[in-house]
Amino acid sequence: MSKCVYAGSFDPITSGHLDIIERAAARFGEVTIVVPVNIEKKCAFSLEQRLAMIQKSTAHIGGVSVNSVDGLLVDYMKQIGADLIIRGLRSLSDFDHEYQLASVNAKLYDDIETVFLMANPRYSFVSSSIVRELIFHGGDIDGFVPGIIIGDIKKYIGG
Ligand code: ADP
Repeated sequence: MSKCVYAGSFDPITSGHLDIIERAAARFGEVTIVVPVNIEKKCAFSLEQRLAMIQKSTAHIGGVSVNSVDGLLVDYMKQIGADLIIRGLRSLSDFDHEYQLASVNAKLYDDIETVFLMANPRYSFVSSSIVRELIFHGGDIDGFVPGIIIGDIKKYIGG
């Protein structure tokens, strides 16, 4: 049985991310969500806020755990005995970057496999950056992010 991880910056977690997590948990039993702490990317939400929103959004799904990791994802995977990386694919424009990432990880450890789940068409246009833009311009994010975190997002942005 494979043990899988789903990694990303989740800035913030969206309905598209949640759909991938629910489908991965249904198929693979256990999913460890991994948020890297050492990415150069400047995030709109702090690591603690992003972890809290992921935890709240996934509390109803059995077998899901959430962790932040300082270092390479594949090294962390070796520590916890995981061998499968789940990624979501929305469009051809995702593909180049995803293929490069999967190839680098396979070069580092050839027994680690990347599996792509196609985006649910309902959420194929949803991204964290679109959500951040909507928030910035005061747009309605209902349906773009899990309903249970909308209050938290407003709180984090307001203060
Ligand atoms: P990163 O900054 O590492 O790209 P993201 O949080 O943006 O992290 O995304 C994590 C993963 O989720 C990536 O594989 C991305 O393609 C996928 N993903 C993002 N949005 C969606 C969506 N709406 N539907 C399906 N997969 C998605």
